Amino acid sequence: MAATGKAAVFHGPGKPFELTELPLPEVEPRGILVRVSVANICGSDLHFWRGDAPLKLPDDGWIYGHEMVGRVARLGAEIKTDSLGEPLKEGDRVAYCYFYPCGRCYACLNNEPASCPNKVERPRGPRTFPHFHGAFAQYYYLRPGGFLFKVPDELSDEIVAPVNCALSQVIYGLHKTGLRFGDSVVIQGAGGLGVQATAVAKEMGAASVIVVDQLAGRLELAKAFGADHTLNLKEVPDRKERLNLVRKWTGGRGADVACDFVGFPQVIPEGLDMLRFGGTYLEVGTISRGVKVEIEPSLLVWGSKKIVGVIQYDPWVIPRALDFLIRTRGRFPFDRLLSHKYRLDQINEAFAASEWHGRDTTTITRAALIP
Ligand SMILES: [Zn+2]
Ligand SMILES: [Zn+2]
Repeated sequence: MAATGKAAVFHGPGKPFELTELPLPEVEPRGILVRVSVANICGSDLHFWRGDAPLKLPDDGWIYGHEMVGRVARLGAEIKTDSLGEPLKEGDRVAYCYFYPCGRCYACLNNEPASCPNKVERPRGPRTFPHFHGAFAQYYYLRPGGFLFKVPDELSDEIVAPVNCALSQVIYGLHKTGLRFGDSVVIQGAGGLGVQATAVAKEMGAASVIVVDQLAGRLELAKAFGADHTLNLKEVPDRKERLNLVRKWTGGRGADVACDFVGFPQVIPEGLDMLRFGGTYLEVGTISRGVKVEIEPSLLVWGSKKIVGVIQYDPWVIPRALDFLIRTRGRFPFDRLLSHKYRLDQINEAFAASEWHGRDTTTITRAALIP
């Protein structure tokens, strides 16, 4: 095995990624070094790249990216199995959490690892052990205590890559809304998260799923992922008219569940309006700190509406996400999610091509790096 690996270092918005060669870390007894096979560019990666919110980076930059799949390159001496107790060896393909619930806080003590405030590490650069901190590199170091699961052979790397972010995130988010059999669901945003949420909502028993976006190509993809109705903001520019359509499609009531997968908070008030009395709003899209939106709290009170915020997920979701992909193969076109592939040294091109904000069209649903 090589003694070094390549990584793309981010130096801040507007600056190009810089490719660097780094020594492979000494693997701790309970750590695992993963050789990354596919690393996707997720919407949140674009937020950082674009500079949607202030970001403090170390002097030597930041190695980031989190949506990925890979093979075990080096197994710590004390690791014999994956998180389900399945025997694990070097060379095995694995899906894994890219965050680490601390096990030493109030949320962890209450069995809510997804709410642990310490689970995501601050940006770290190439000089800091274990050097490989993110997906945009040839290797990823899974820290001691990290959750990982063997991947069934019948799923390709390209299909599995979104499991540890987009897919698990939407499964967990919809679970947290209390989505029930026969519910109606509004999905705002038909990017990677939105279309996968559409399929998951259908599989969870939603009677009708309405997807809202402004790009026709994305809405067409949402249909293939099970959307019963699509609403194009360009075709229906009047907000009141959109609300009327949602009411019409939900028996005059409004949706039981509405979800923000857009990433810009301006959509939130409209999503809340699309809910029925007693409905639940899932907030996942807006991760940028400091951005704000005005809402009228009395509408929540008089409407008995709930807002649920979800960042990441509990580790039990990953094996269920893998099962879901096997079970629904042929029903949803998961192979259409990844539209473009790039080498690691083409990362700047890949980010530029993935940018959709402020554009009318994008042909990219998900771009992947093959490092
Ligand atoms: Zn992500
Ligand atoms: Zn914790």
